Amino acid sequence: MPATKTVDLATHPLTTWQGPLGLPDFAHIGDDDFFPVFDAALKAHEAEIDAIAGNKDTPTIENTLQALELGGDALDRVSSIFWCRAGAHTNDAIQALERDISPKMSRHFSAISMNEKLFARIDDLYQRRESLKLDAETLRVLEKTWKGFVRSGAKLDAEGKKQLAKINEELSSLGTSFGQNVLADERDWALFLDEADLAGLPDFLKSSMAEAAEMRGQKGRYAITLSRSIYEPFSTFSERRDLREIAFRAFTMRGQNGGATDNTSVVRDMLKLRAEKARLLGYGSFAALKLDDTMAKTPKAVHALLDPVWEKALEKAAADQTELQRLATEAGSNEKFAAWDWRFYQEKLRAEKFAFDEAELKPYLQLDRVIDACFDVATRLFGITFEEKQGIAAWHPEARVFVVRNADGSERGLFLADYFARPSKRSGAWMSALQSGYRLGHGSKPVIYNVMNFAKPPAGEPALLSVDEAKTLFHEFGHALHGMLTDVTWPSVSGTSVSRDFVELPSQLYEHWLTVPAVLEKHALHVKTGKPMPKALLDKMLAARTFGAGFATVEFTASALIDMAYHARPDAPEAPLRFEAETLEKLDMPETIAMRHRTPHFGHVFSGDGYSAGYYSYMWSEVLDADAFAAFEETGDPFNPALAERLRQNIYAAGGSKDPEDLYTAFRGKMPSPEAMMVKRGLV
Ligand SMILES: [Zn+2]
Repeated sequence: MPATKTVDLATHPLTTWQGPLGLPDFAHIGDDDFFPVFDAALKAHEAEIDAIAGNKDTPTIENTLQALELGGDALDRVSSIFWCRAGAHTNDAIQALERDISPKMSRHFSAISMNEKLFARIDDLYQRRESLKLDAETLRVLEKTWKGFVRSGAKLDAEGKKQLAKINEELSSLGTSFGQNVLADERDWALFLDEADLAGLPDFLKSSMAEAAEMRGQKGRYAITLSRSIYEPFSTFSERRDLREIAFRAFTMRGQNGGATDNTSVVRDMLKLRAEKARLLGYGSFAALKLDDTMAKTPKAVHALLDPVWEKALEKAAADQTELQRLATEAGSNEKFAAWDWRFYQEKLRAEKFAFDEAELKPYLQLDRVIDACFDVATRLFGITFEEKQGIAAWHPEARVFVVRNADGSERGLFLADYFARPSKRSGAWMSALQSGYRLGHGSKPVIYNVMNFAKPPAGEPALLSVDEAKTLFHEFGHALHGMLTDVTWPSVSGTSVSRDFVELPSQLYEHWLTVPAVLEKHALHVKTGKPMPKALLDKMLAARTFGAGFATVEFTASALIDMAYHARPDAPEAPLRFEAETLEKLDMPETIAMRHRTPHFGHVFSGDGYSAGYYSYMWSEVLDADAFAAFEETGDPFNPALAERLRQNIYAAGGSKDPEDLYTAFRGKMPSPEAMMVKRGLV
């Protein structure tokens, strides 16, 4: 590590942003600045927390809650730049720092949530909250802060705190083992094939299988591995039924192969500890604990969503299976239709019914025009405009800077975007904030960014996107709008600081405007002829989207239902895998479809806490976005001004300042129902 330099947080370019437009002065930030600045910023924040906790005056909103929210400014600033660099433009030095800083940060924040004197002051305010005459947002922030402390165990006695810490520690190490066991099973299994075994496989798959074989020391051969990106296309295209069966069995048994990497007991122990943790914190089940601060709130509400979807999905899958079986028989198969046949015959049916070439669409989707379309939709819906500023240094020369203005021309904030893939960038697409927008204290304008990984075209040629890439651009821009349109007082409820089952609404909803005819007519122009995308081509693409919905919905929903079944009970099942089998039987799970993630490799739920009792939220968000866009369709105007204003106010501007259920109802006039989602998926 670099030797500690003396750092003045009041003047350092990482913590006082003196660059153009109020951005950090990226040109004067070096990699070796991060370590000493982090060090100083952590110490400064600790001192601020000590001062708040040790204050002898009666707690007030100003001297406690506000001081807590505005504290750590230097730490926020250095962190936001550092994590931006770590994702979008990293190198060995940044990566080494990451390993050092992550545990430091988690220790720092867990010490704050365990600070008894600090909690005593928050608790004092919370107990007096009725008499403090707080506005609704402040009351909510106080309640959320208090709950956050309580959920970290602040109210437990010394013995309880010790117990909770032990449970958390055990859960975290079990979660790590779970993930490593799955990884080991995936790494250790490969089936090597020769040219003669590859019947039906497309070139892209052959080349990734060749690479996988070479990595395992079998150059010149081809490997089926258990990575989803090989397993799924292999079971989709391979004409070798025997190999499809072998691959299917290996894939669905990951984490359940006996020996050191078997996850059966890991899962049993984790479920026990989670039930214990919920009990300790005063909840009836682990699901009740996890759902407490979500939009769904209770397992009952989750079931009200999943159960009707499950019924429809089963019906659709049964109808689809009849058709697939017919295809199999026609193709001369006498075997009983099995789980390893589904993807294969489904692909045959797709090719027969919806043959069209993605490559036909690409010339209509030029990156710069799709960006224009994103901006244009935001202007039509919300009145904001975007002006690009040239020559301003950001974290990389390819990052572009835009000033975002309100309808009256006043500045609202900044939007930065970094579109092309490069070796220093991690894969994927994301939105984040260098600075979030809020009014508290001196206030702060939102500085939001998007990072994408589109292939960079040769110099002088326009970048063309696939439909999925264009959707991703709209998706991440929807998250960015959530950050840029934010209109709240308190930092902790700004922008995307909302519950997990609400955060994808602004992004998934925004995707819908990509395929609005008026938007495509204006922006989806052929790169050579300048003509708009033909309607017939668009219709074909849209029709193909719902194909295979029965299978996809059954495999997803089965996993979501099992996740809920494990966690909504007050205790833990003695034999989780038997419980999985019994639950599936009660649900009438078709024998010919496997869960998308079976328990012994269900990483979302067991390798950490991220999506435990939360796998449903992917579908919950889909219900919200389909239902929300249906509101526009019902008016016959995808830009209906009155509705757009309600959307801005309640969804894009409100952040976490109100209960998500109230926000959604204020926009839509009612709670969402799954019908629009089922139509969108093609289930009804
Ligand atoms: Zn998203």
